[in-house]
Amino acid sequence: MRLPLIAGNRKMNTTVREAVALVSEMRLELDAIANVDKVICPPFISLAAVGELIKGSSIKLGAQNLYFAEKGAYTGEISPLMLADLCQFVIIGHSERRQYFNETGEIINKKAQAALRVGLKPILCIGESLKENEAGKTAEVVTEQMRSSLARVNELDGLVIAYEPVWAIGTGRAATGQQANETIGLIRHNITKLYDKEIAQDLRILYGGSVTAANATEFISQPEIDGALVGGASLKAEEFLSIVKQTSAIRTHLSEES
Ligand code: PEP
Repeated sequence: MRLPLIAGNRKMNTTVREAVALVSEMRLELDAIANVDKVICPPFISLAAVGELIKGSSIKLGAQNLYFAEKGAYTGEISPLMLADLCQFVIIGHSERRQYFNETGEIINKKAQAALRVGLKPILCIGESLKENEAGKTAEVVTEQMRSSLARVNELDGLVIAYEPVWAIGTGRAATGQQANETIGLIRHNITKLYDKEIAQDLRILYGGSVTAANATEFISQPEIDGALVGGASLKAEEFLSIVKQTSAIRTHLSEES
């Protein structure tokens, strides 16, 4: 059975002081929740401080981006080697990076390879726009995004995929559990074709897009969905804790049943 994962993508929110305060508010409770991988992704400048705060706990740390070169004259960029010392996960290919920073499939592929090379687990985001969704192109788009992002990636090594329909991110308009489950089933099927059945069965695939405490169970209880990438709701301790607790309860119930 795959261990569910809830990752909080704080995007470009919180100063270092605020990031630390937010984690302090939920650290003890979050640490005690079993049967879920809990990942916090604050802005780069807060990684060290948040890392110190969660040291020795079951909470994991993720970055929101990286550059693919190891080091050199790339002013303002952060390398995989710098992150490997600080965190376990890194978000790659988020739609906001594709949209505002012109990240292409080729760039995302280089980033995925660079992350894996240093032992970081990419949380690879894929998903269709509203226009593509309305044109019935969801399957085509996510299949192409997977093909380009995973080119020459021979071992997934803990990589996680987050299916995030662009029209659901930050809009308050989430997909339905059934819609998300269907597309995630297709993503898993694509992994079987690109790799093999065992790798597909082991791969964690999350849903992301306006997940809140009010709708989390609808997604987490779907058989293909292994957790959530949470944006806005990760900025509120109570809300994030509730999503993690709901996930733990569902997973614990399923373990007891099997
Ligand atoms: C995200 O940033 O990946 C995201 C899903 O945001 P939100 O939960 O705010 O829609």
